[in-house]
Amino acid sequence: MKKIPLIRPYITQEVKQAVCDVLESGHLTEGPMTQALEQAFRDYIGCGYAIAVTSCTTGLETALRAIGISPGDEVIVPDYTYPATACAVRIVGATVVIVDVDPETMLIDYDAIEGAITDRTKAVIPVSIFGNPLDYDRLNRIKERFGIIILEDAACSIGARYRGVCVGNLADISVFSLHPRKFITTGEGGIITTNNKAWAEWIQSYKHFGMGKADSRLKAQFKRIGTNYKLSDIQAAVGLVQMRHIEALLETRIRLSERYHEFLEGSPGISISRVTAGGRHSRQSFCVFVGNRDGVMTRLREQNIEVQIGTYSLSRQAAFSPSSVCRIVGDMAGSLWAFDHCLTLPLFEGLAAEDQQFVVARLLEAMEAV
Ligand SMILES: *Cc1c(COP(=O)(O)O)cnc(C)c1O
Repeated sequence: MKKIPLIRPYITQEVKQAVCDVLESGHLTEGPMTQALEQAFRDYIGCGYAIAVTSCTTGLETALRAIGISPGDEVIVPDYTYPATACAVRIVGATVVIVDVDPETMLIDYDAIEGAITDRTKAVIPVSIFGNPLDYDRLNRIKERFGIIILEDAACSIGARYRGVCVGNLADISVFSLHPRKFITTGEGGIITTNNKAWAEWIQSYKHFGMGKADSRLKAQFKRIGTNYKLSDIQAAVGLVQMRHIEALLETRIRLSERYHEFLEGSPGISISRVTAGGRHSRQSFCVFVGNRDGVMTRLREQNIEVQIGTYSLSRQAAFSPSSVCRIVGDMAGSLWAFDHCLTLPLFEGLAAEDQQFVVARLLEAMEAV
């Protein structure tokens, strides 16, 4: 039986050659390739600084440290996200404050942010989930009124835009993922972007064992306790080749999404997630909402169509049980609805129209059958 995967990483001959070139160069850790990847992100996004790290999760942790988050501080996160968003807050010892999302966009509920702010709130981590950009007109008003920092979990959102500005150049600091589930991937990896020079310098140092500027050509100078979150040149070479083709890859994803829209138009019992007004969705994932989602998902998988839930509801995870360091504000109705109904359909470079038609036909059948 034909198998239709959820994703297929963009690994071409050009990518393989780039990796071989790095292997032959003998430079295997962070070096010219990683710097070129950082430059490619800076150029594409138009931001001042882009710093490669080992993952989005370590990037979020590093960004939280750079902006000065520590125990006792509160950081607001949406309930509907990959748990890493909130794990990073706990890893730096701060208190996680969980608020609901809008069930149609699956993005953080802006009113709920305002309702959860206390005098201990230092930052909010809105998540441009699945590549849907956030409403920065709203977020910036909240930021100005309450004086909090916006750290965007942009794991899914390279290529997304809000009013023409690239994600990565909208928040105070943003973090992208290069995990294979995202369409620009280095296997594992992440990129932090910001326009804040002091934060960028701190991050550079922290990810390089706490090194500062050398005091002589012979010896490095260690200024602080740091760690090793360097991204190797072997990995960076993969992402660098993909970044050369990013606009073409995005156009394909948008075209495939439009085709799903056409095929699904008017089908009873299915709704499609809404894109933020004024935004360009990067279509990291194409999500629909269906009843009996788990039944539908099981049936499609039995037919070799790889579908997946959207993401997780933090309030349903034991790791985020309410405690002195984890507050859940509100009933999470929007998030729980998305957690129970969202279904992600196959979407990758090279997915044929017939295959999309096949997926939709099997999906409609499955909905009838369960
Ligand atoms: C994928 C993802 C992460 C984790 O990214 P890693 O690079 O695997 O650490 C975090 N947040 C969101 C919203 C994600 O989709």
